[in-house]
Amino acid sequence: MQSDLADVVIAGGGPGGLSAALVLGRSLKKVIVIDEGKPRNDVTRKAHGFLTRDGMNPSLIRQIAREQLDAYKNISILKDVVEDVERKKGRFITKTKSGKILNSKKMIFATGMKDHLPAISGLQSVYGKTVFHCPYCDGWERRNEPLAVIGNGDGLLPFIKLIHNWSKDLIVFTNGPVAIRYEEKQQLAQRSIDLIESPIVELQSSNGKLENVILRNGKSFSRTGGFMVTTGEKQSSMIPARLGVPLNDKGEYESSEHGQTNLEGLFIIGDAKNTFTSLAGATSQGYEAAVKINGELAEEEWADVLLQRD
Ligand SMILES: Cc1cc2nc3c(=O)[nH]c(=O)nc-3n(C[C@H](O)[C@H](O)[C@H](O)COP(=O)(O)OP(=O)(O)OC[C@H]3O[C@@H](n4cnc5c(N)ncnc54)[C@H](O)[C@@H]3O)c2cc1C
Repeated sequence: MQSDLADVVIAGGGPGGLSAALVLGRSLKKVIVIDEGKPRNDVTRKAHGFLTRDGMNPSLIRQIAREQLDAYKNISILKDVVEDVERKKGRFITKTKSGKILNSKKMIFATGMKDHLPAISGLQSVYGKTVFHCPYCDGWERRNEPLAVIGNGDGLLPFIKLIHNWSKDLIVFTNGPVAIRYEEKQQLAQRSIDLIESPIVELQSSNGKLENVILRNGKSFSRTGGFMVTTGEKQSSMIPARLGVPLNDKGEYESSEHGQTNLEGLFIIGDAKNTFTSLAGATSQGYEAAVKINGELAEEEWADVLLQRD
């Protein structure tokens, strides 16, 4: 039924999805946000680098966003899980875990990523507290501290260079045979950065504060914080892939600068598109996608007026 037709269904109610909902709601669109409520940054207590919200608990940022969206009666936010989406006759049919079926003209996926941390004993206790991935989010708080850089592979050297901006006191733990070239090892040695290949047995900590990195060879290194090269992130939702949206070699969905995918009317924004977008980045992508979608809906409505007259 036409009255059941939403303009836009948004899967995911993080900063990306909620920002898109705000702009679309203010454009008089009927918007339904479906959010499972399990954001990836839930492990951290302080978010940084988001203007006017620096140092605020990310759950408080989400709460303020929802309070502001409450004022718009054309926006509904449902706590539910998007389980399937079908595209029929140019419409999106969204099925949720609780059994709801929603029809919409357009669809946004802002479902983010989920982290699958390496199986290092003690890592869960420090991740998001003193061990992180994103130096722009948490580098300032760890500046000039004795830090561990944990990771391996192609991305290792560029990542070490980046973390070196915040602290020169670095030890790199590859947790197994290192995969970088001899010349690259030389570059680290020239900067007094130790490279340790022995597997990590445990990250010792107290109240989330990293204290020691314990190795299988019995050695222990005192470190007060650290950064992980990757957090084993994977898409939260594979529904867009099932619909035919390609993933790049980082596991990110491919979409244009406004989030438009290869499937007309389907948009992907936030971490699902750019692994670690940031709060500001995801919010901005939500805004951009909403403006693009509203422009398209305005064009479609403009053409519809004439069709209905004929
Ligand atoms: C430990 C950590 C610390 C961080 N610190 C900072 C920081 O200090 N500053 C900063 O700018 N950024 C920080 N970030 C990054 C930032 O949190 C993300 O880039 C941002 O939240 C991405 O927003 P998003 O809307 O794309 O996804 P998310 O915020 O992850 O939101 C996605 C939402 O979609 C929901 N969802 C997933 N699948 C479904 C489904 N099938 N149906 C319904 N709902 C679904 C999830 O439960 C979640 O609520 C941090 C990230 C982490 C992991």
